Amino acid sequence: MLTSNKPAGRRWRPGFFLLLLAVLLAPALPAAGSAAAGGKKLRVTCEPAVPRQGEAVVVTVSGSERPPTGLFFLGRRYRLAPAGGVYKAVLAVPLAAAPGRRGVEIAWGERRETAAVLTVRAGNYDEEHLTLPPEMVSPKQKSHLRQIRRDRQLLRRVYGSSGSAVLFNRPFIMPLESRIITPFGRRRFLNGQPKSPHGGIDLRGRTGVPVKASAAGRVALAGSLYYSGNAVIIDHGLDIFSLYLHLSKISVRDGEQVRRGQVIGYVGSTGRVTGPHLHWGIKINGIFVDPLAFIKESRLLVPAAEN
Ligand SMILES: [Zn+2]
Repeated sequence: MLTSNKPAGRRWRPGFFLLLLAVLLAPALPAAGSAAAGGKKLRVTCEPAVPRQGEAVVVTVSGSERPPTGLFFLGRRYRLAPAGGVYKAVLAVPLAAAPGRRGVEIAWGERRETAAVLTVRAGNYDEEHLTLPPEMVSPKQKSHLRQIRRDRQLLRRVYGSSGSAVLFNRPFIMPLESRIITPFGRRRFLNGQPKSPHGGIDLRGRTGVPVKASAAGRVALAGSLYYSGNAVIIDHGLDIFSLYLHLSKISVRDGEQVRRGQVIGYVGSTGRVTGPHLHWGIKINGIFVDPLAFIKESRLLVPAAEN
């Protein structure tokens, strides 16, 4: 838990009108499309079709004559996984994506066509101002800078290690049934400096409370990082990762297969924190998305019988 010295304020912004407009116009804008190259029966559906900044979108492709080789959205390539006669992919809308209509392209090798259009709406996330020890906000000590550099290289390898196979067959769950103390997407100012928005949610918890895996997967990282403290990152396939940070203790190993609900560690206060809590995040293809919204969206990725 980070201590706030100013109450978080929700501001009235013109973005609200854009959001309203997007919602009102949404039914008129098709989010499902059909591209000629994939065959006459090609159908691409996106849920939700009007995602917020920082939200994941589940895409289902059916009727493709050939297996599509990827989806392109906001300059990134996304993998597709075969799922009972259709193909599924999960796109991520960055928190920094500008609201408005954005095309989703489908590819078969070199051939790419627009398959659907999403209407990105503003997230209207609030902001908070925090005061922390200066070394935690802008580290200057050589050993800290060296660790931060090492962490960055390690994380690049970790997030590059996913594959096209979906490693879970049941929807995601909360890793800890507890109250949210810092929501997703909050814009943060640390010691007056703007920092990246909150990429997950902070859950209240006492040191030593067990933390469960949100879904089945492979442990991509179990180790200590400068900002995150003791961290577990699980790869769920399709470039979907869940993160569990600031743990007091880790109870899994790198490369281990974990089940949904398996205890992977215990709540703590390691890394850049002012008190014990669990930071829980979902990162998709390098982009943090709202974990609570993703619990719902993950239902669209598993066989109906498992929901
Ligand atoms: Zn956090």
